[in-house]
Amino acid sequence: MKANQKATILLIYTGGTIGMIKDADTGALKAFNFKKLIKGIPELKLLDCNIETVSFEKPIDSSNMQISDWQKTAEIIEKNYTNFDGFVVLHGSDTMSYSASALSFMFENLNKPIVFTGSQLPIGDLRTDAKENLITAIQIASLQEKGKPVIQEVSLYFEYKLYRGNRTTKISAEHFNAFTSPNFPELVESGVHLNVNNEVLLKENVSKKLKVNTNFDDNVFILKLFPGINKTILHTLLHTPNLKGVVLETYGSGNAPMENWFIDEIESAIKRGIHIINVTQCSGGTVLMGAYETSTRLKEIGLISGKNITTEAAITKLMYLLGQNVANSVFKTIFETSLRGEMND
Ligand code: ASP
Repeated sequence: MKANQKATILLIYTGGTIGMIKDADTGALKAFNFKKLIKGIPELKLLDCNIETVSFEKPIDSSNMQISDWQKTAEIIEKNYTNFDGFVVLHGSDTMSYSASALSFMFENLNKPIVFTGSQLPIGDLRTDAKENLITAIQIASLQEKGKPVIQEVSLYFEYKLYRGNRTTKISAEHFNAFTSPNFPELVESGVHLNVNNEVLLKENVSKKLKVNTNFDDNVFILKLFPGINKTILHTLLHTPNLKGVVLETYGSGNAPMENWFIDEIESAIKRGIHIINVTQCSGGTVLMGAYETSTRLKEIGLISGKNITTEAAITKLMYLLGQNVANSVFKTIFETSLRGEMND
């Protein structure tokens, strides 16, 4: 883009509260035609950029998000990649961290912003948080320096903060401040000015061509450990037909029971070629297998360390790598390497 030119932003509405209205009969919120709604936001015309909008034919509550919806969103962006300077994805907050993580893995060599945002209250509500989120997300996606986008990664904007998308997790169904990024600093903070934290931004080598990898493998599950976990249930889960990977949410810095039956079940699953990722169920911090006696055996039997990845990024990375047919011999090494800034190496 030439300097002094206005940025062109594509707004993609997938669904979510931001564009919902109350059903007159039931009182429940449901997705609505966003193009109609957006006509009622005159503020958008005041923004110093050109905006075009596209909406899912049937906008959805993000609890209904499927892999096919991630693929649909990615296809829209890929198709329009050269014609736009940035992309803002309007999405329900419930599974936004999963979608932002999934898209971050799908887009290799990304050098334009993909900003996810949404809101806790519909845009038509008097006390809505949608307008600020939407307007600032568009402004951030439009930020340019020397003709290049400032943000060149998949991010998530909510309540005055832009986060790396694959570092986020939803923490509140009540507060406008619905997200946090427990192990990574904000990329931008919105106050009187937009304060960009330049040192932490991902910058891809611009000479590399964008590659969009859309395959995922859903033969996976997440298991959160709890005291009292039952041997038969664990055995049954780990013998699920076609199972290829598990995100195991362990205690603290990656600890689990030391009982033989537990270790044996996990070890036998790993020997059957099932990839098991150790992530912590704490809301912050990292897995460090070997730090305690209760994680030493897990390290020995070949559990993959999720380090300080979020569960949302871990499960999407697992499905993504399985979908790319990464060979078993290198799967652990690749998983333990940061692909899109989702974990500290
Ligand atoms: N249930 C809604 C959704 O995730 C909540 C929201 O948009 O914030 O689609």
